[in-house]
Amino acid sequence: MAETTPFPDGDTSSVKPFWAKPELLAKLKEKVPTPPGTGDRPRDVRAGIRAEVSRNRNVKLTLDACVHCGACLDACPTYLATHDIHNSPVGRANLVRRALWADTFWGRLFRTRNGPAARDEAAIERLATYYYQCLECRRCGEICPFGLDQADVTRSVRSVLMDCGIASRYVATVIETSERTGNNLGLPPPALRNTLDFCRDEIQEEKGVVVHPKVDEPAYAMLLPPSADFFLNLETLKGYLLFLHEAGIDYTFTTEHAELGNFGLFVGEKHLSVVGDHVVKVAKKLGVKLVIAGECGHGWRAFKQYVVPRLREEGIEGVHVFHAVIDAVRRGTVRLDPAPNGETRYVYQDPCNYARAGDLVDEPRFILERVVLNHPESPHRRETTWCCGGGGGLLTDELMAIRLAYAQLWFDDALSVGGQQVVRPCAICKAQLNATLPTLNKVGKTRLQYSGLMDLVYKALVPSASPPAKT
Ligand code: SF4
Ligand code: SF4
Repeated sequence: MAETTPFPDGDTSSVKPFWAKPELLAKLKEKVPTPPGTGDRPRDVRAGIRAEVSRNRNVKLTLDACVHCGACLDACPTYLATHDIHNSPVGRANLVRRALWADTFWGRLFRTRNGPAARDEAAIERLATYYYQCLECRRCGEICPFGLDQADVTRSVRSVLMDCGIASRYVATVIETSERTGNNLGLPPPALRNTLDFCRDEIQEEKGVVVHPKVDEPAYAMLLPPSADFFLNLETLKGYLLFLHEAGIDYTFTTEHAELGNFGLFVGEKHLSVVGDHVVKVAKKLGVKLVIAGECGHGWRAFKQYVVPRLREEGIEGVHVFHAVIDAVRRGTVRLDPAPNGETRYVYQDPCNYARAGDLVDEPRFILERVVLNHPESPHRRETTWCCGGGGGLLTDELMAIRLAYAQLWFDDALSVGGQQVVRPCAICKAQLNATLPTLNKVGKTRLQYSGLMDLVYKALVPSASPPAKT
């Protein structure tokens, strides 16, 4: 147990998100209608789970094929950090099995035998509490001999709970804001433009280069960063701006959808597609041929797996900014010098959704090797990487107790190889590190820092004497 965890070892039942108010969920239902309930919520949840198991073969397989071998317990960060068996792949799945069992003949006959079986509000809240402690990191799926994906069950259960009026207030708020304003933070177009102006001035001052980012204009490409890069991660934003300028790529930002993140991914497919379809609509409207995703793990996963296939139907391609950097390096259109990033020991830690769902493992390493001098590998890397501890929609203050406990895993990993700066190219990772590192460093008497990868590209880029012709 970390020294920073204020809950009893083995019991995280009291750590839960603030639940969304009915008015907020009603707004979400305007975009995604859901069937009316019967007025008996526990019954509706159980019926919803049964329907989900019939509809989603992956969920059915995961619940049916699990042999309770327990191998995933040693992989699951939420169990390893808290020792609460309910806060684990098997424990969570057992809560669902009890809900399914409750309405069977034997379940009705032996009502009390297997503990709470989602028959009352308290049991439903317990189900929601533990499913909102899952990071959806898929580490369990990597180790399971059958490849069972408990994160998929988490998404399905949360989707049913949301239909029945229970959702994390944080997750529901972000989805509602994104669907209403086009970005998770609700940043208005003037704020986005002001930030770009600020970054442009800083780049001129620091690098002697005048960049000209287009905004809402026709262009060959559309840049799609997470909105957090306009707020918390300005060094990352400057990395995109300088790189795209130096690579000679004709691109535009869009204020209509200034967001790579897609919190729909955390609660099922319905809102995922509402947010994803809006990206396609805006790209079509601007007439671009390419959409370039910025640094965000879950955003990249939702983009790669849902948005890119939809873009291709419209003759538009989608790539990650790392692909564009690698292409430019190979063509020789940009020059990188690691010296400005100094002798610091940079430890790259794969965001879960790059390594276990997004096929972005070697690409960031290709770039890192060219922008820094010292880059020791984390013991848990690539597909065994630890989640930052804020994934899966857990990045909210009321869950700080478990976020700190989960964070201890990657923190210890980085220190074990003498790391001085953790590199995590993901908006959620960066926000989680920003929130947890002060406490972890204080308790550990350390000075670990963090950054994205495009931040390091920014420092390493050697400006060309004259800007190349636009392609
Ligand atoms: S997805 Fe991650 S946090 Fe959730 S049960 Fe699996 S290993 Fe644990
Ligand atoms: S590793 Fe797979 S089969 Fe074993 S308990 Fe976990 S989910 Fe079940």
